Amino acid sequence: MAEITTRCCIAGGGPAGIMLGFLLARAGIDVVVLEKHADFFRDFRGDTIHPATLQVLYELGLLEAFLKLPHQEVAKLGAQVGDTVVQIADFSHLPTKCKFIAIMPQWDFLNFFADAGRRYQDFHLMMQTEATGLIQEAGTIVGATAQTAEGTLTIRAELTVAADGRHSTLRPEAGFDVVERGAPMDVLWFRLPRRAGDPSELLGRLDAGRMMVTIDRGDYWQCAYVIPKGGIDQVHAAGLPAFRAKISELAPHFVDRVEALASWDDVKLLTVAVNRLPTWYRPGFLCIGDAAHAMSPIGGVGVNLAIQDAVAAANILVPRMRNEPARVDDLRAVQRRRELPVRLMQAVQVMMQNRIISRVLSGTQTPRPALPFRLLTRFGFLRRVPARMIGMGFRPEHIRH
Ligand SMILES: Cc1cc2nc3c(=O)[nH]c(=O)nc-3n(C[C@H](O)[C@H](O)[C@H](O)COP(=O)(O)OP(=O)(O)OC[C@H]3O[C@@H](n4cnc5c(N)ncnc54)[C@H](O)[C@@H]3O)c2cc1C
Repeated sequence: MAEITTRCCIAGGGPAGIMLGFLLARAGIDVVVLEKHADFFRDFRGDTIHPATLQVLYELGLLEAFLKLPHQEVAKLGAQVGDTVVQIADFSHLPTKCKFIAIMPQWDFLNFFADAGRRYQDFHLMMQTEATGLIQEAGTIVGATAQTAEGTLTIRAELTVAADGRHSTLRPEAGFDVVERGAPMDVLWFRLPRRAGDPSELLGRLDAGRMMVTIDRGDYWQCAYVIPKGGIDQVHAAGLPAFRAKISELAPHFVDRVEALASWDDVKLLTVAVNRLPTWYRPGFLCIGDAAHAMSPIGGVGVNLAIQDAVAAANILVPRMRNEPARVDDLRAVQRRRELPVRLMQAVQVMMQNRIISRVLSGTQTPRPALPFRLLTRFGFLRRVPARMIGMGFRPEHIRH
């Protein structure tokens, strides 16, 4: 069995893991990031880069290069409820460098940071390397085991970070169980071609018993069709033509292209989960990002929160790790710093799930916009509140070192 030693071993090359790896290496701390896939080219993940994350890029001096990558900019969020168009959020007043959400495939974002990380000699990204377990000695985690194409690898590290997503392998290895907050819906995720003349903003569409979000990705629409929790068998039983018809009823301009969904292979199921760990750390071990808290898709905040966790962790850990191993108190400080913003965001998401999404999905009549939507549409200044909540989160982090 091959063995390597590093200061920090991070399992998972998603937004949380790549960002933390980059920040530690940038501070001169040797780090190994393990990513089980051979590349980042998977469509089945979030692609919204929020103003708070763009601010982090600005503080790192990387924003200009980042914005040269192909992306769309969304400065306002709206939705169509029944026949009425409502305005929800306006990012143009945020106290951030970028007053918009950048829509960019997540693989571009991850490749950008992987390339930026490779400029530091202490950054080691190991692709096609799957973390399989933790190494424990006298109650402390002292590294991880991994499977590579060549065989089994042992990575010994002062600190092991689980950033391996909401189906984390390392989290249960550490004896951690998540607390579920529940979600009334699942999401079907698919692409449809984009044509000249299509409406251009990110738009949610809500009608009797159905709901869909369409994200402009340049030459195609990334669509998220919301179904009741566990309703996938019913959708399959009704058949693909019925599903295509439902999409066209909700967004009539798609009628000429729903045939692009040739089989169910073109439609991916996202099982929505909202959960969090009561404790994010153990001696020598820390969970961040989705591994610590899976978010509802409402607001598309998962990537931003993962990045914010990584920035907070680096801010707290770098001063200590420059001289000595991170202590349990430091790991606790990371949880203390990030838990409140996560809990507040999940509380808002659960409220929206229960008050809006459950009602729309169980409704049989065309819904009317609820009072908050009517107020937001009428009074422009109110739209700054959801913009701040979605775009910046409850405790935006800044690069300290
Ligand atoms: C279909 C879909 C759409 C979404 N849309 C949005 C959106 O529009 N906006 C948004 O903000 N959020 C969205 N999200 C959520 C968002 O993708 C996550 O919140 C965010 O990516 C979490 O980042 P993370 O780094 O914590 O985990 P992940 O992004 O899940 O990254 C974990 C990484 O770890 C790797 N990995 C897993 N296990 C191992 C292992 N054992 N060893 C090594 N590597 C491992 C995985 O391959 C992955 O690369 C969406 C999620 C899904 C599934």
